[in-house]
Amino acid sequence: MESKPKKRSPPSAHRTVREMSLSASISQHAKKHPVFAAEMIDVCLSEAIQKRASDVHLQPRRDGWEVYYRLDGVLQLASTFPHDEKTNPVARLMSLAKLPSYMGGIPQEGSFQWNDDRNQSHELRLGIFPTLYGNRAAIRIMGEAGSVFKTHELGIDEKTESRLKRVCESRDGWLLVAGPAGSGKTTTLYACLQHIALGHENRSVLTIEDPIESVIESISQSQLQPNSGLTLASAMRSAVRQDAEVLLVSEIRDAETAETVLSASMTGHLCFSSIHSGSLGSTLRRLVQMKLPTYAIQTGLRGIVCQRLLRATCKQCDGKSQTEHRCDACHGTGYQGRIPVVQLTEFDGSDFSCRVFDRLECGATADEIDGLVHESGRPSLRDLAMELVTAGITDAAEVFRVLGSNG
Ligand SMILES: [Zn+2]
Repeated sequence: MESKPKKRSPPSAHRTVREMSLSASISQHAKKHPVFAAEMIDVCLSEAIQKRASDVHLQPRRDGWEVYYRLDGVLQLASTFPHDEKTNPVARLMSLAKLPSYMGGIPQEGSFQWNDDRNQSHELRLGIFPTLYGNRAAIRIMGEAGSVFKTHELGIDEKTESRLKRVCESRDGWLLVAGPAGSGKTTTLYACLQHIALGHENRSVLTIEDPIESVIESISQSQLQPNSGLTLASAMRSAVRQDAEVLLVSEIRDAETAETVLSASMTGHLCFSSIHSGSLGSTLRRLVQMKLPTYAIQTGLRGIVCQRLLRATCKQCDGKSQTEHRCDACHGTGYQGRIPVVQLTEFDGSDFSCRVFDRLECGATADEIDGLVHESGRPSLRDLAMELVTAGITDAAEVFRVLGSNG
């Protein structure tokens, strides 16, 4: 093994000046313990937002707390601080989200608005999970409203973008965006809907999301309410009766939803969804496992986008931050920002698509179907990612981190 896991520095090395001064003054505030927790949370959230983190994790360990920020998709240890029986930052978060503290030992979810020091409001989603040393907290920092990208802002090449727009201009069919969690699927889907919403023609667009992540003006977005008894599939069936021309169901998780969306896509609706799968082949196999007939998939499916996000090499230090002096632009990671790598396969009745569905019908494995992509001379996700390495946008280590050694 060449790369050993990095040793953690002793907790004190990570503590911010603010934390330490706070610890020193803790005894004076012993009776007013929420002061410390509140300031602690303020410091963490301000710093996380300033660093453009997407998530903050507070994890209780035997000796104290570890605070992590997710920066460009990768979790980084931000600071540690000792336990203090008088103060509990997770309890403070729970009170902000109005979660009942008497319900110990069970996972809870909530959300709250938080104002930073520039008085900007942020929506934060909180998840609480009981662990051996107490509740841990995961905080998702939601994107600002209006931060929906247009297709040309996604960072994909022009040719793929114009093919994607062509799919968005179709009258019917189903576009599936595939990738693991955190691969930018929702961003791509929102850009597609934004393209439709900004088009010359008025098209009735309705979304069923769980949850709504960003707001697009001039379309109807709806969020499944917990305990409403409404499933994605039943909401979808009602949506079809709303005379919607374009429908988005945020994620295909079960056979019933898949079947409902597929049948809508075959009856004059343009449908969009994401699916948690790794490649073209594995996406098609999942649809077959959901008992969708191959001929129906072939009729309804207009295309599959397979995508990942790669961290871009920091332009300030050229990725050398870890070896030379610490770079402020990338906080010493060597990367700043992310770019998508996108493989769009259209099913348009070409010889290639017929071959794919013939093989699928014969029970071909996901790998065999991905092999057809290679045979046809179309680039794989790895080929596309390596083009970004050649262009100096990212590096081979990042491609390996995201795509592994094969695929
Ligand atoms: Zn840098």
